[in-house]
Amino acid sequence: MPRSYVHEARKRVGPKRARIVPIIDRLTAEYPDATIALRFRSDLELLVSVMLSAQTTDVNVNRVTEQLFQKYRRPEDYLAVPLEELERDIYATGFFRQKAKALRGTMAMLLTDFDGRVPRRLEDLVRLPGVARKTANVVAAELGNPQGIVVDTHVRRLSQRLGLTRKEDPVKIERDLQWLVPRASWGLFPHLLIWHGRRVCIARRPECERCVVNDLCPSSRV
Ligand code: SF4
Repeated sequence: MPRSYVHEARKRVGPKRARIVPIIDRLTAEYPDATIALRFRSDLELLVSVMLSAQTTDVNVNRVTEQLFQKYRRPEDYLAVPLEELERDIYATGFFRQKAKALRGTMAMLLTDFDGRVPRRLEDLVRLPGVARKTANVVAAELGNPQGIVVDTHVRRLSQRLGLTRKEDPVKIERDLQWLVPRASWGLFPHLLIWHGRRVCIARRPECERCVVNDLCPSSRV
């Protein structure tokens, strides 16, 4: 897109500080059920689901965890079976070797450092083996204590299209969003963008004509 056109589009929609709350409000009205698609019944199941969701779909993870969580109920259970057995049990989520190793390391640390419980602070969560910042952010937000903003592929694409950031690096995008998005919406905001990104602002072909924020978006094609 030529620079002058981008400049004009930004001028047309106004500053991001003024647009962010209307964007959140309209997407909230559009997607009142926007929430995490992973299925879990406890903090531990949440952590395991999010760890397994790397490089695969939530639907796929839910299919695997339906059986998995019958068999593995406590951190000790993940350490009680041979590594190969755990690998087999999570095989269908892909990258099963790394994931099994990460799960075992995480369970061991939960037992030694956290009384077998899932910690709530981001700085503790990122200490767990195989738990990167994005995973930690998702878990902390679902535990009701968001300390950052989850940046996945949808959040990144939509934040850029909506002119909320010009960065490419997820950590820098998160910083821009933390500065912009009201703290009370840090947990909800990524879900709104993910839902909108899956349904309307699709990667290859955004459907701007039926987008509820098209008058607030500098990338709108209508
Ligand atoms: S107007 Fe188009 S590009 Fe902008 S958020 Fe909506 S669908 Fe995406």
